[in-house]
Parts: sequence; structure tokens; C-alpha cells
Amino acid sequence: MNTTPLFKQLAWINGQWREALNGATTDIFDPATGTQLGQVPCMGATETRQAIDAAAGALPQWRALPAKERATLLRNWFELILDNRDELARIMTLEQGKPLAEARGEILYGASFVEWFAEEAKRVYGDLLPAPVAGQRLLVMKQPVGVVAAITPWNFPSSMITRKTAPALAAGCTVVLKPAPQTPFSALALAELARQAGIPPGVFNVVTGDARAIGGELTGNPQVRKLSFTGSTATGRLLLQQCAHDIKKVSLELGGNAPFIVFGDADLDQAVAGALAAKYRNNGQTCVCTNRFYVHDSIYQQFADKLQQAVAGLRVGNGLDTDTTLGPLINPAAMDKVQSHIDDALQRGARLTLGGQPHALGGTFFEPTILLDVPHDALVAREETFGPLAPLFRFSDENEVIRLANDTEYGLAAYVYTQNLSRIFRLSEALEYGMVGINTGLISNEVAPFGGIKSSGLGREGSRYGIEEYLEIKYININLT
Ligand code: ADP
Repeated sequence: MNTTPLFKQLAWINGQWREALNGATTDIFDPATGTQLGQVPCMGATETRQAIDAAAGALPQWRALPAKERATLLRNWFELILDNRDELARIMTLEQGKPLAEARGEILYGASFVEWFAEEAKRVYGDLLPAPVAGQRLLVMKQPVGVVAAITPWNFPSSMITRKTAPALAAGCTVVLKPAPQTPFSALALAELARQAGIPPGVFNVVTGDARAIGGELTGNPQVRKLSFTGSTATGRLLLQQCAHDIKKVSLELGGNAPFIVFGDADLDQAVAGALAAKYRNNGQTCVCTNRFYVHDSIYQQFADKLQQAVAGLRVGNGLDTDTTLGPLINPAAMDKVQSHIDDALQRGARLTLGGQPHALGGTFFEPTILLDVPHDALVAREETFGPLAPLFRFSDENEVIRLANDTEYGLAAYVYTQNLSRIFRLSEALEYGMVGINTGLISNEVAPFGGIKSSGLGREGSRYGIEEYLEIKYININLT
């Protein structure tokens, strides 16, 4: 990996590749093999403050650029990401474990946000309002919020960065990013491409190191006006509290507990294909991954048989092998969580029909698993598994399944399979989720608003709504009399 110029082992602050002030580093490992890939600086509050100062220093010039010029630089960045997609995908698979084909898919998905917001940068419109009294003109203008802090997770090491950074830069904000400790190299490679694209020093900074120290500075420094976070609900809650003091603007993309509802009239082959995508993509490690399958009594066994046949065909292995469809889990704690959900369900009377234990490959590889007749009080009904476990619950009545699906603190994504148009509308309206997939297991793209309700988060990313998260509304009343 050392041979690619995109593989950087230093942080990116104010247009410079930097070591930690005390020289400390953190080793980064390949989850598939356990081998060390390299190291990154272990920075803390002081370096973070320097990055914030750099972002604040770069802000006046960056926000004053005509949107068209910011758009051109973002477009350059987009092109460079595409040009280097194979190298970026390889870095991602090495540090995160997902199969190379999925990593390539993520690079394209991540790049689509840069392209989209390069276009949206030019469409931040104001308003002229009809005044209620004579002689006044009421204007509304939109302005960048200022310095943005972004904190991102390991499950999408590249696209979570572009989904935050591209709209921020498009709006005229500058950014300090703290990537996930497990996957810093994807972030640093994006920084190198941003440099090559001509994005000026200080506009985009990447700080690696101690999450608490960096997070404390990002949320405590009054120069930072906005935090955008993707990660667990527990960490999101903590960061929201930390942002309360300065009343920072906050966007949160947090955990989910997605239901996948299969009605008796569903096209079962389509439902199985959707189930594979919604459950086993990234080995079940996405916040929109199905956590609970609710299958109607009338087709329960039929769906279970078809799903089992499809899942048994998945290949577990190193993501660099081209026939691998399921990579390793991110770490041993992730294995323990999957195993605890399986053991709990079995204790409560569920039936195991596939998998159920760590894979013979060892390490953090886990067998894709299916459980049938899972009781509604099982742990897996309440908590996000984040692994390759498909628990199938039974239902017989539409109102019952709506109640079960909504019986969670989360509200990110839900999936429904049915051919009945009236039911499609009833379910779309009744499900308490930010996103609903009907007869599809893949819902996210740059054009659509991504985000959740309840404990799944605040705000939306992507789409024409996504840039609003980085803009303030200013109202101006001009008295002409
Ligand atoms: P996970 O448990 O899946 O790693 P987290 O929510 O802990 O989920 O991690 C998401 C991101 O939040 C990572 O970049 C992580 O380093 C960061 N993070 C975790 N704890 C803190 C914290 N106290 N302050 C700032 N960032 C944090």
C-alpha cells in the first residue's frame, strides 16, 4: 500500500501534512488478516485547535468566492475521486474489510455527493418577500454557517466524509474532519485528492487521534458553528450535549433498527433479493441494514426457504478476493454482539437454520446466520445487531405489524414488500421512519434526503435539502420611506 501516493500516514491541517506535536502515533490494522497497515498521528486538543484556527482563517476567502468557483473546485475533486477509484477502493477494503466490489460501489456513491453538491452550490437562492406595509422591502439571504466539525464512522470510510464535506464546502463553510480511528486512510486519501483539486489550505482539514480529546475541542471551541456526526446514538447524544453550551447547529445520523416487512402478496424473489441487499451489504454493518424481518404467516416458510438458499450462497472471505461477498466484522466486540443476539434468541425459543457461530476462517469472520420464529421480546428486536444475522419474526395482521415495526426508539429506515397500492400508502404513512423502501432494499442515493427521526437523528444529508444544514437564513428589512 505504501506504493500509492494516496496512502498518507500524516494528518492534514492548514494545507500541510502533519505529525502529532508529541510525535505519538496509532497503529492501523487490516481486519481481515490482523496485519498492520501503517500508522497515523495520535493528535489531541491542541492540534485540533490549530485545525479549527486554520478553518476559521480560511473561511472569509472561501465563503467570498462566487459559488461557481467553489463548484469548479468541487467538480475537480469529483473527477479526481473517479480517476483514482480503484486505488481508493483498495485502501478501503484493506482498512475496513468490505469486499472490493462494495468498496468500489462506495467510492462511486461517495463521489456522487461531491458531483451533486458541486451543482447545488450554484442554486442557493434567496427570496424577496411581499411586505405587509408600504415602503418596505423584505429580503431573505442564505449564508454559510461557518466552521464545520465532521465526525464520521468506520462502516462507510469514504462516503460519510463526502456526504458531509461536499455540501459544507459548497455552501461556503470550511471543515475540520475527525475520521473513525479504524479507517483514517480513506479520509487522508480524500484530503490528498482535495489538495490536488485545488481546494485551498485550511478549507478542509483532517485530524486523527484521540476521539474524546478531538471531539471535546470540536464541540467546545466557539469558532465551530456546526457539528455533523454519523455514528452510534450513545455518542451522538453525548456530542449533542457538548454542543449545547454554544448552541451549535447539529446534524446527527445515528443508529437504526430497520424492520423489513414481507406481506402475503409480495413478490418473494424480489423480497429475497432486497433482503440480501438490505441485510448482508457490508456484512450487516450499516445503519440502514434490516435488523428485523416480519414475515406474514401465509408465506413464512416459503420466504424462509428462499432466503436460506440465497444466503447459503454468500462467500465469506478476505474482501480482496474477487469471489468474496461477506468480509470480516470490524472487531472482536462486533462478533460478541452478534453472538449475544443469537444466543439470546435461541434461549427464548428461536430456531437456528443457518450459521450461528464464528466462521472457520477465524479472526473476525462470522457465518451468515438465519433464525426462525424469533419471539418479539428477543434482544435483537430492540437492539441494532450490526452483523450478518437475519431474525425472522411472524405476523398475521397489518395493524399488528405496524405496531411491532414502530415499537422501537429508532426511526431511520424501513422496508415493505407488497403489491397492494392502498397498503403501500397506508404503510408509508404509518411507519415512523425517515426513509421507507417499498419493494426495494437499496434506498440511498445523492438525490434523496437521507436521515432519521426519533433516536436515529436530526437533519438530512444528500438531496436539495442537504445543503440547508450548512446555511443560515438571514432576513433583511429595508425601509424605503
Ligand atoms: P462505533 O462504536 O461504531 O465506533 P461511535 O459512535 O463510537 O460508533 O463512533 C463514531 C465516530 O465517533 C468515530 O469517529 C469515533 O471515533 C467518534 N467518537 C466516539 N466517541 C467520541 C467522543 N467522545 N467524542 C468525539 N468523537 C467520538
